[in-house]
Amino acid sequence: MRCDHCAQDVPDGAFCTRCGAHQGTTYTAEKAKTREHRYAAHPGEHVAQPSIFTTLFPHLGHHKIHEFRWAFIAGLGGVLVLYVTGLITAAILVAAFLVPVLYLVYLYEAQVYRDEPALVLGFTIGGGIVVGIVVTLFERLIYNPLQYNPNPLSGATVSIGAVLVLGLVVPIIQEALKPIPAFFLPNRADFPETVDGLVFGVAAGLGFSLAETLVGFSSALTSLPPHVAPGNWIYDLATLAIFQPLLQGSTTGMIVATIWRFRRGRLARREIGGVVMAVVAHVAFSSGTVVMKDAAFNPLFILVWQAAIVGTLLIYIRYLLHYSLLEEAAHMGFAETVCANCHMHIVASGFCPNCGMALSAAPTSIRRGRRPRAEPATKSKKTAT
Ligand SMILES: [Zn+2]
Ligand SMILES: [Zn+2]
Repeated sequence: MRCDHCAQDVPDGAFCTRCGAHQGTTYTAEKAKTREHRYAAHPGEHVAQPSIFTTLFPHLGHHKIHEFRWAFIAGLGGVLVLYVTGLITAAILVAAFLVPVLYLVYLYEAQVYRDEPALVLGFTIGGGIVVGIVVTLFERLIYNPLQYNPNPLSGATVSIGAVLVLGLVVPIIQEALKPIPAFFLPNRADFPETVDGLVFGVAAGLGFSLAETLVGFSSALTSLPPHVAPGNWIYDLATLAIFQPLLQGSTTGMIVATIWRFRRGRLARREIGGVVMAVVAHVAFSSGTVVMKDAAFNPLFILVWQAAIVGTLLIYIRYLLHYSLLEEAAHMGFAETVCANCHMHIVASGFCPNCGMALSAAPTSIRRGRRPRAEPATKSKKTAT
């Protein structure tokens, strides 16, 4: 079959295995080529779907995604149970560790680090934790409004200065420092793809988030009796377990992905927009939270605000990743492999001809199992469309 878009001879299929274009559809040429209705890392979804796991955990296959989703929901359930029974200290700890631990399991599961687990994990999650400890301790030195208050939503009037420091200066400092560990990864040349950069950035951001929570709540963790009245902690716990780690992971993932794109010499408007977006979103998240807490807004509004910002960030990351995967699909040579998304046995180069998944986002074990084929097969094992 000859692809309508890149004019290469490719195996039959709904998608071109070389350029990823959607074949033989009624879409316009541009739409079939960019195929935003088929997100390259997880073709079952549209690019503009604010899904957490298919965005920040792009190497997971179809079934694994559900396992991670359930583990996340179970973790949140655990936080809720601890909260209801008044075990706030334990709830804070579970909330702080939930997403970073899931990410560690994901890195292991997909073997994103290939042959160098210690080095990669040390420079991403480990580096993020170190930066998080240093930055959070420094923040507390210059400004400490987070002194433990039994009911975090009452009292404690926040000044303009606090809004400026917490809502503007701190987020900008954090965004400047969080990508540093991933940037200095010694064997980064072994991980040329943008999807690798994204994952390393998310890992560094989650390490940072973990350290930030533990240091920021250290006084609460040490001074709270193990068992207290639940109070209003549930809102803070939701932020700690869900929105803060997702914000810190997404912003750094986006910035490190941009650094990776820059290394490939592909720095365009979308990437620079990503860095701007990361900083603006973080400032909006923090300043909005400080101002609304100060004005004693309904805490549910604060959570909705945080969710809206995180959702927007996720969609931006998906656009960034989708176009990177489409552009970076180097010809890997035709090989027999199994698609991580649709589990079909395929003969493919860069994309699954059946579902259109970008095979550079496949787990390492599947990439290693590729059996090269010299000639482009005239027909893949699936039935021709
Ligand atoms: Zn093509
Ligand atoms: Zn597939």
